[in-house]
Amino acid sequence: MTEITAFLGHVTGLLGAIEADGLMKRERPITSAQGTHVKVGGRTLLNLCANNYLGLADDPRLIAAARVAMDTHGYGMASVRFICGTQDLHRALEARIAAYLGMDDSILFAACFDANGGLFEPLLGPEDAIVSDALNHASIIDGVRLCKARRYRYETGDVADLERVLAQARADGARFVMVATDGVFSMDGTFAPLAEIRTACDRHGALLMVDDCHATGFVGPQGRGTPARAGVRADILTGTLGKALGGALGGYIAGPQAVIDLLRQRARPYLFSNALPPPVVAAGLAAIDIAEGADDLRKTLADNAAYWRAGLSDLGFTLLPGDHPIVPVMLGEAVLAQRMAAELFERGVYVAGFFFPVVPKGRARIRTQMNARLTRADLDTGLAAFAAAGRASGVI
Ligand SMILES: *Cc1c(COP(=O)(O)O)cnc(C)c1O
Repeated sequence: MTEITAFLGHVTGLLGAIEADGLMKRERPITSAQGTHVKVGGRTLLNLCANNYLGLADDPRLIAAARVAMDTHGYGMASVRFICGTQDLHRALEARIAAYLGMDDSILFAACFDANGGLFEPLLGPEDAIVSDALNHASIIDGVRLCKARRYRYETGDVADLERVLAQARADGARFVMVATDGVFSMDGTFAPLAEIRTACDRHGALLMVDDCHATGFVGPQGRGTPARAGVRADILTGTLGKALGGALGGYIAGPQAVIDLLRQRARPYLFSNALPPPVVAAGLAAIDIAEGADDLRKTLADNAAYWRAGLSDLGFTLLPGDHPIVPVMLGEAVLAQRMAAELFERGVYVAGFFFPVVPKGRARIRTQMNARLTRADLDTGLAAFAAAGRASGVI
């Protein structure tokens, strides 16, 4: 009794500190499907913060594929893969992902968070080294922590620093060295310099792992991601079905056959967590078919991103430079990002403030994201709202 009272006092204190720092995140329930517009509290808002790059989250073809799969394969699996959780659909999707990405095979996880969490530990041991970009996604950081390999970090996107760290790892006697990087850094919308990173890896005999969550489906030829965009090979790729490829959930690792075979035996989030539900797997197959042939959507997405970036820039907002459909509007303090998001909400635009711990303190922002289904009229409405909200909160 007294233990729980003291403990809850401690937890309540932590919550109070989060609130006092202006770092409390509040969720707004959406009552419609995810789309270019969403319903919140009876209002329809322009949605500029989903990872729904190709607009597939409410696509009738994905919904139809999911329905058919529920009729033929049921709703849930009630099993991990190796007991009785593998259907023909799961293997079909793994083969499809591998063929799309030009890899031998792939392995599905409940999420890319799990894929990254389970990737390193079975493959590398204390004799080995992982060299990780300082800005990598939290799931890579956690996956690296769970692995016994020695850990090295390099300044984000800084190939000279990467070279230095690779030389250090070699000097320390590492057996195998694996460089791990996001293909696109999700908070900044910047690309990792993969061509230079690949060259550095080759020079030091290192393997290259790329997390392409914010690229697969819409970056590079046929949407095959950042290695295809840079014209280089990644040895191991991870990605998600939860962003451009339909936005439901599910992650994967794609790579050489022996790597995938070993992960099927040893990756803990794969061995100890449920198989993906059939409707999600079937819609994933449909999403890849659509994405592979979606040059029109990729073109519209790039045009939208260029138009949106120029529009915000002309209004006087500070953006991070780049040409990815992630367009971060830099605001500095968390309180200002929250205020700006609230002002935009009042003006019919749904965005979220991003602040510590997802970005460094003092680097708060509103991360806007483009979608191929947004029209010019939608973007003009969005720009007008940003102009008004920016003035109301003193940003411009
Ligand atoms: C979103 C994201 C993840 C996590 O993907 P989920 O499938 O949602 O778990 C992992 N890595 C990066 C770079 C991401 O952006």
